[in-house]
Amino acid sequence: MADLKDKVAVVTGGSSGIGRAIALRFAKDGAHAVIVGRREEALREAAAEDEKISYVAGDITKNETVAAVMAHVRDKYGRLDILVNNAGWCPVKPITEMTIADYDSAFELDVRALVNMTIHALPLIRSSRGNIINLSSVGSTHRAKNLSMYQGAKAAVDNFTRVWALELASDGVRVNAIAPGAISTNIWNVPGLSAEEAKKHQDGIAAGIPFGYFGTPEDIANMAAFLVSDEARYVSGGIFAVDGAMGAV
Ligand code: NAD
Repeated sequence: MADLKDKVAVVTGGSSGIGRAIALRFAKDGAHAVIVGRREEALREAAAEDEKISYVAGDITKNETVAAVMAHVRDKYGRLDILVNNAGWCPVKPITEMTIADYDSAFELDVRALVNMTIHALPLIRSSRGNIINLSSVGSTHRAKNLSMYQGAKAAVDNFTRVWALELASDGVRVNAIAPGAISTNIWNVPGLSAEEAKKHQDGIAAGIPFGYFGTPEDIANMAAFLVSDEARYVSGGIFAVDGAMGAV
């Protein structure tokens, strides 16, 4: 367990999947966690799991949501120790079917929102000599068809992580990324499949994982808890695989 008593964390996309597990883990370890997402109902339900979780509803690709998150953090807590840039998504299609709107939607969320959130969180994170964790993917270094927008965006995330770690080292701010493999969350739900087809689809993916099964959001939360703990005090600029050996191939 990391000792996060009295620390304050922001987790984007924290109402479901990996972000929700990270926020809950941070709260269990003593931190106040602010989750950000578009669906108020889902945020309220996630925040109900621990009284140390609060939320801001909004689309983080919008500048006004980023401003609202920082206003909430300043007004309610007056400090920020941890930023987890977790929200992410991509269109799944080949370049032959891609439109520039697909590029815009992937890069606005996976890249622009992550940069915008980081820029606005930095004054407080620098004051607390805090931590930034970016969610990358095994896909940033292992290519697969139909995922070019995602893999391009996550490759950018890897390099932001490394360069920001260099730039912020003298401020005592650590910047790391987690690169999940296949983790059981909504991101794998393919719309329009029957239950039987969905199972076949998931079994096919699991067969390609050296461990033979999907990881859980808690597997990622365990790594996040380590990275923000004092045990990781000398760890910065790393991209940490949590992927059942998928990235070792
Ligand atoms: P998820 O769909 O459960 O979570 C993504 C969250 O981001 C959701 O809560 C969603 O509402 C939120 N979100 C999306 N767009 C948003 C926006 N514009 N504004 C605010 N919130 C928004 O998926 P997940 O699997 O938990 O993904 C979390 C991160 O992990 C993503 O960056 C994803 O790319 C990365 N990742 C996941 C896997 C995996 O196998 N699940 C693998 C590699 C990387």
